[in-house]
Amino acid sequence: MIPNFFFRKEMAEYDLGSDHPLRPERLLQTVELLRDENAVEPIIPEPASRKHLQLVHSDEYINAVIEAGSSRGDPHRFLKYGLGTGDVPIMPGMHEFCLWYVGGSAAAAQAVLDGERLAFNISGGLHHAQRSLASGFCVYNDPAIVIAMLLQKFERVAYVDIDLHHGDGVQALFYHNPNVMTISIHESGETLYPGTGFTDDVGTGQPHCVNIPLEAGTTGDVWLDAFRHVVPSVLKRFDPKAIVLQMGCDPHFTDPLGHLNVTAQEWLEAVRLIKSVDVPMVVCGGGGYDLRNVARMWAAACMTLEDIEFGPELPAKWQRELRMPSYFDASLPVPRERGRAYAERRIQELQERFEI
Ligand SMILES: [Zn+2]
Repeated sequence: MIPNFFFRKEMAEYDLGSDHPLRPERLLQTVELLRDENAVEPIIPEPASRKHLQLVHSDEYINAVIEAGSSRGDPHRFLKYGLGTGDVPIMPGMHEFCLWYVGGSAAAAQAVLDGERLAFNISGGLHHAQRSLASGFCVYNDPAIVIAMLLQKFERVAYVDIDLHHGDGVQALFYHNPNVMTISIHESGETLYPGTGFTDDVGTGQPHCVNIPLEAGTTGDVWLDAFRHVVPSVLKRFDPKAIVLQMGCDPHFTDPLGHLNVTAQEWLEAVRLIKSVDVPMVVCGGGGYDLRNVARMWAAACMTLEDIEFGPELPAKWQRELRMPSYFDASLPVPRERGRAYAERRIQELQERFEI
């Protein structure tokens, strides 16, 4: 049984419009699949407090989010905060809704502060929000709030982001703090939102921001090799006392938002590598826009991290529901060896910058 899994149904009670790719079903399906595997009985967390938000966001911005969600006035005046765009539409009660997912992450952080080794909030991982700016489906940056909380006890905290997209918001919020190492492996900003996260982006002072950009089309074998060549070595040098893992599953080869070709088992291998660092960890969700993947990949990751055996076949009900036979993609034809030359150049640059 996964002991510190924080979830409440309100986290999935939002409506960004029928065309918006961030579907609430992803959360409900993951919890239900884990329940069917007898792997979880969620703990219901409290909503976050303003104090949690203030750890990384400005008062001006928090007030703007509150006002945008309750106002009948001209929505254009919130555009300077990134609110009311196609990515972050304004919805009534948006501040109150966001307190649910931030509350889940804050509860997971508190569990680790209280001595637990591992805690989960799959509704979190909204890594694009900046101090005073909503961006990329993200209003409040819960992984950054988790990091700020963990720093109250742990001297050095590492953030590992395996989402398709660069974890730009988290990086920006700790760009000047060498006690936080941010690591992000993602599709290059040359071809994908948010357009950032290159290898020369290392933070101020002692280099502590690690970016592994990969070109569009890169296959999972190359993705995993790049991860293996860089991440364990930089983590070893940094010697984190706690880790925050953002486990976006949108690098998957069927995901509609990007152009990486990672399989479920390659992605899971990266999760295993982070587990082997063996320090207290808070695990958040993140991106993932093909509903055939999200529940099975996140359930597999949670069970892997807790040493619960599973699969490879999905429970029969879920084979029908997801129209997928397995937690893994072994039987599907996927391309190999694409993006190798680009990845090797990036690895070399990082090896020089970080002396690994
Ligand atoms: Zn993403």
